[in-house]
Amino acid sequence: MNPVPGIGERPSSHSAFGAHGSVLVINSGSSSVKYQLVNPVGGEAIASGLVERIGESSSLLKHTYGGNKTERTDPIADHGAALRAVLAVFEEVGPDLDEAHVVAVGHRVVHGGAVFSEPALVDDDVVAAIEEIAPLAPLHNPANLRGIQVARELLPDVPHVVVFDTAFFQGLPAAASTYALDHEVAQKHGVRRYGFHGTSHQYVSGKVARVLGRRLEDLNTIVLHLGNGASASAVRGGVAVETSMGMTPLEGLVMGTRTGDIDPAVIVHLHRNAGMSIDAIDDLLNRRSGLKGLAGENDFRELHNLVEAGDEAARLALDVYVHRLRKYIGAYYAVLGRVDVIAFTAGVGENDDIVRGLALQGLEGLGIAVDPERNAGRKSQPTIISPDWTRTLVMVVPTNEELAIARQALALVAPE
Ligand code: AMP
Repeated sequence: MNPVPGIGERPSSHSAFGAHGSVLVINSGSSSVKYQLVNPVGGEAIASGLVERIGESSSLLKHTYGGNKTERTDPIADHGAALRAVLAVFEEVGPDLDEAHVVAVGHRVVHGGAVFSEPALVDDDVVAAIEEIAPLAPLHNPANLRGIQVARELLPDVPHVVVFDTAFFQGLPAAASTYALDHEVAQKHGVRRYGFHGTSHQYVSGKVARVLGRRLEDLNTIVLHLGNGASASAVRGGVAVETSMGMTPLEGLVMGTRTGDIDPAVIVHLHRNAGMSIDAIDDLLNRRSGLKGLAGENDFRELHNLVEAGDEAARLALDVYVHRLRKYIGAYYAVLGRVDVIAFTAGVGENDDIVRGLALQGLEGLGIAVDPERNAGRKSQPTIISPDWTRTLVMVVPTNEELAIARQALALVAPE
């Protein structure tokens, strides 16, 4: 693999991309690579894109820069080829990565185990540690690692930083992170609650304070990250004290294709009495359940259409989803004792006023309500959607995990 020259070398003068340069953020999945070139100071995405269906004949690369969208449909065999294709499209349609003065590559890594509570500069030891944690996240960490290894080879002159989805929750109180499982078994096999979507929960809880002009230390916030994957967190004064995902991202809220909470004895039952293999059950719980399993549809836009058309399975799926969400909101109210802000974020949280309204319906007794007019429609900016009289503010705060990763990477390679 030929390294790309120039990147990481300081240009003679500051580029048009800002004095701090830019950060290339990479999120490498099992068959996809998403990327964004971010100005970590101004906060804007300079360019972004994704490679989908890596290893299939129908691979697709989409790249957006300066309002122009470019698509490539050449087959892409592996992650190395994917990243080379991304660098080629930067060279072809821009922006020029030399001019963008890439100061770091920020990699999203799903599982940091009990090892990583902060972002880390990538070296061989860090790679080995992520490899060691891989059994805890067999779907995610190996794919993240492939992206890191390929990017290090192609961009050897720029520092690479890993930012972990679990890091924000690494300091959860032991009462929240411990499963009531035999202590020795849990200890030996790393079985504890780690939490995920941490970059988003940290970003959103911080953004709430900045938008309101309040000190982070003074705010108790419940963050509801509702995307295809979904999680809730309770954040006291900027510190996470509870979260809904556990040892893996399967626990907690109902999700697009995941069950969320389920009696673990269901797994024993399906294995013993229905003859399902462990792999088949894994697939069932992670990919064939949730809204998809209940209603055959995991996109809320379609789900609402089905509900309106009188589809009973879709109605039940919506009810189960909202019921679980309300249970968590109530639980986190009790955990925090006082809730200043409830913040909705991610695909569903930012766009779906029906889910937001239903989740908080009937909570006036707790000082929580949603104003139907303020709630209406999609929100691309931080917005207060509660009426003026409530004690708890309800907000929609768009998440930006790429920017959060870019800023953490910059802070590590160029501390102020
Ligand atoms: P994410 O994983 O954060 O990208 O969220 C993806 C999910 O957001 C989709 O599966 C939809 O359920 C939901 N979503 C996206 N756009 C809308 C919209 N305009 N209205 C309702 N739900 C939406």
